[in-house]
Amino acid sequence: MPVSGLSPYDDANIFARILRGEIPSRTVYEDEWALAFHDINPQAPVHVLVIPKGAYVSSDDFGANASDAELAAFLRAISTLGRQLGVATDGYRMLANHGRDANQEVPHFHVHIFGGRPLGRMIGKAS
Ligand code: AMP
Repeated sequence: MPVSGLSPYDDANIFARILRGEIPSRTVYEDEWALAFHDINPQAPVHVLVIPKGAYVSSDDFGANASDAELAAFLRAISTLGRQLGVATDGYRMLANHGRDANQEVPHFHVHIFGGRPLGRMIGKAS
């Protein structure tokens, strides 16, 4: 069920539980500010999720409330990951869903990194 846009942070969400080590993930990158792991239901040969370690509901919350250090470190982590995952040369797509219209399902900010094949059009048709 997609989450609505401006809900308060829910500490029981699945990515908060991954950050606390309560459930496993296939980690591919970790630093002081960010964690990245394989998506459990991959939509491309490379499908990794990058999350900040801080408690932010979505891109809206992160962009408005994260510190400059968190914001900078997050983008650096994505760039590092693109190279580490071997998709920086041929290309990859970053995607972040915020709120109901975007179908955000997990209410902890995350960026998807897709790659490993031609990714087609930017956005699907509305259904
Ligand atoms: P979104 O619709 O942007 O909120 O995407 C949430 C993503 O989280 C989906 O692509 C799910 O497949 C993924 N996901 C859900 N639970 C897990 C989990 N335990 N480990 C890894 N990925 C997950």
